[in-house]
Amino acid sequence: MASPITKSALGAVLALAAVALITPARAQAQTTGSIFGGFTAPQPQATGGGHPLMTPQAIAQAQANFPNCIASMWPLAQSKGVSRRTFERYTSRLEPDMKIMDYLDSQPEFSKPTGAYVEMLVSDWRVKKGREILARYKPIFDQVEKAYGVDRYAVAAIWGIESTYGDPKGIGSRNVLVSTATLACIGRRQDYFRDEFIATLQILDKDDVPYDHLKGSWAGAFGPTQFMPTSFQRFAVDFDRDGKRNVVDSIPDIIASTANNLKLDGWEFGKAWGYEVVLPKGFDYRYVNRTFKQSLGQWASLGVARPGGKGFPRASDQAFLLLPAGANGPAFLMLGNFNAILKYNPADAYALAIGHLADRLRGGGHFAQAWPNEERGLSKAERLEIQGRLSQMGYDIGNVDGILGQKTKSAIQDFQVRKGLLPDGYPDVALLQQMRR
Ligand code: CA
Repeated sequence: MASPITKSALGAVLALAAVALITPARAQAQTTGSIFGGFTAPQPQATGGGHPLMTPQAIAQAQANFPNCIASMWPLAQSKGVSRRTFERYTSRLEPDMKIMDYLDSQPEFSKPTGAYVEMLVSDWRVKKGREILARYKPIFDQVEKAYGVDRYAVAAIWGIESTYGDPKGIGSRNVLVSTATLACIGRRQDYFRDEFIATLQILDKDDVPYDHLKGSWAGAFGPTQFMPTSFQRFAVDFDRDGKRNVVDSIPDIIASTANNLKLDGWEFGKAWGYEVVLPKGFDYRYVNRTFKQSLGQWASLGVARPGGKGFPRASDQAFLLLPAGANGPAFLMLGNFNAILKYNPADAYALAIGHLADRLRGGGHFAQAWPNEERGLSKAERLEIQGRLSQMGYDIGNVDGILGQKTKSAIQDFQVRKGLLPDGYPDVALLQQMRR
């Protein structure tokens, strides 16, 4: 991958659901670290460049320099095959959208608990609507599944969660060229967005998507499955063979491009993304560690079982154990396809929602185990405090950055063992209170 960041924007799905998320989740996860601070997904790293910290004065300067900044992109655009005619046509009157600066650094105070997030996204309504979409476009899904070897339900789930199956409010209404140009010249992530801006010019140069249809989130994710421009360049395909890779207006191109994306990110056909599992009494929670993988058969020999006594197909598949809400919530064994979904958007809760919606669309039921009734997730200050306290206790938790990765979770598990608690490694308010004692 050219960038650790794949794409963007859960879109207004979340805003529609009246959640305290100011910005599209996917874009947020990529530009500021993560709104899912409590989760262990591999986190996007800042790619450097731009201004480390944009003061109002620096922003004003960058805004004044915007035309020069855009003009200076010509050699790069040219090297990517953009014609001078296209470049002038689309950049000569370009102006930045300064409202985007407000989104770039905003974060909700608290992360949303995984259970509430997944339940909100995998609603009965979204399941019903998804089944309608699968029926309506069945011939296309048939062809795409055959061509790419990617589960149609996973593709439909991404479509459903990224934009509520193409709802304009979910897609976003900002002009992608303006958004990426703004962020390429102003703000903290200029190197990253410069590539997105150039990739947008390439789309316009090839006329894959008409200028007026290139609309999306403030971070530049566009179309029903929210391709970032660089992801578009890597993954989009012209499945209806009209000469355009139009992931905004062509249903065959949307479905096939999304399938191609999952395929190239490692999707294995005919395999599950993971299984909900029940842990036996007396289970050693130190097995909860995403870096520890063993076969489903080995997990079964430890007494880990699917609810209702269903067995594991392909007992040799490697899996890791994930407890997204700690010991009081459902447990999952995660397989390779879970990691393919994580490449679409690096947050466990997102990937779990996609996987669960895919299963529901296929006819599966709700999870057997209930989510804990958590009032809220941790704030960034609280996550930093947990890391700071673990650091003071002598644990190596990597950077104190508010992102609680496996190192932090392993340290939490060790702390829990020492305190005689269940070592599920789950960081919540109760754990922080325990640490403060
Ligand atoms: Ca096409």
